[in-house]
Amino acid sequence: MINFLDLKAPYLELKDELDEAIARVVSSGWFIGGSELDQFEAEYATYCNANHAIGVANGLDALHLALRAMGVGPGDEVIVPSNTYIATWLAVSQCGATPVPVEPDVLTFNIDPELIEAAITKRTKVILPVHLYGQPADMDRILAIARKHGLRVLEDGAQAHGARYKGERLGAHGDAVAWSFYPGKNLGAMGDGGAVTTNDPQIADRIRVLRNYGSRVKYVNETQGYNSRLDPLQAAILRVKLAHLDIWNARRSDIALCYQQGLANSGLKLPQVPDWAEPVWHLYVLRHPERDALQQALTDAGVGTLIHYPIPPHLQQAYAHSNWAQAAFPLARSMADQVLSLPMGPALTKEDVCAVVQAVQLATKAVCRQ
Ligand SMILES: *Cc1c(COP(=O)(O)O)cnc(C)c1O
Repeated sequence: MINFLDLKAPYLELKDELDEAIARVVSSGWFIGGSELDQFEAEYATYCNANHAIGVANGLDALHLALRAMGVGPGDEVIVPSNTYIATWLAVSQCGATPVPVEPDVLTFNIDPELIEAAITKRTKVILPVHLYGQPADMDRILAIARKHGLRVLEDGAQAHGARYKGERLGAHGDAVAWSFYPGKNLGAMGDGGAVTTNDPQIADRIRVLRNYGSRVKYVNETQGYNSRLDPLQAAILRVKLAHLDIWNARRSDIALCYQQGLANSGLKLPQVPDWAEPVWHLYVLRHPERDALQQALTDAGVGTLIHYPIPPHLQQAYAHSNWAQAAFPLARSMADQVLSLPMGPALTKEDVCAVVQAVQLATKAVCRQ
């Protein structure tokens, strides 16, 4: 059996370092804020080529607080991809604002810059691209549109720690980037965690106040804030893992290359990478019109796969009140019906990857004959 993802492997690989980091925090008796968090924030900002990193409780809060810091509120609109994890939309809704979906470019799965301008209205405040599956969105084209219309850009980097756009690591191309350290992400904590990186000192300052009850000085509250903090235990764990992120991302790239080469003649639709993008392969997602049958055949062959994501946000009950037309956002719908994520992670061995390639080729032929 080849699992989709092995979450215990990164711990076993770095056991001594992680045990030491955990013991350091536990024995310090300091469990909120403090130097462990400060050091992680400094190290993560440096890694992302950003002036500021602010730790928060999770990726959804990173998105939500960054939008709040940009002044997004009721009546505003934020442009989001039609095909993303629902957190991207929920962050907008939590501000009382409206997510305005834009369809993806079918080759890269990322928001199609060509379609953004048509979605801009006088209420639009922010463009919120997602670097989906670990592949950077086309930032220069998105930033040019934002500049032309006086909009802010918040990037959802939850799947793309370490990815590069035109040679430069993601972290401060737009006004801010929201990150998640959910355990399954490329940089994952042992629990929930998140951060925002930015070069804008005002955004950084507002998020620091918002994450801490709207307070800068203890028991003095300048705004109605939130409790959304990255705790020092998670910060210490993330510091250990950050030092290994590039090695782990390189292993993911090797695996993706094996999949690209091994499945090149399979007739499957494989991920496409523009020459300016250096993805970090959070997920390796292919497309097939008989996706469910293909997934079943792989399950029977002992290969674990997942679907990211089976229902697009606009078809969720959570957004039923928006009353979109039946035919709205056909690309998001067809992707939800066709995408399949192969096993991916730094713990996969070369033998595992070869076995997956072989299983996918056999399963593809079997599905075609049906
Ligand atoms: C994981 C994820 C989030 C949310 O992160 P959490 O830490 O789980 O709140 C947001 N956006 C995308 C694209 C994600 O993949």
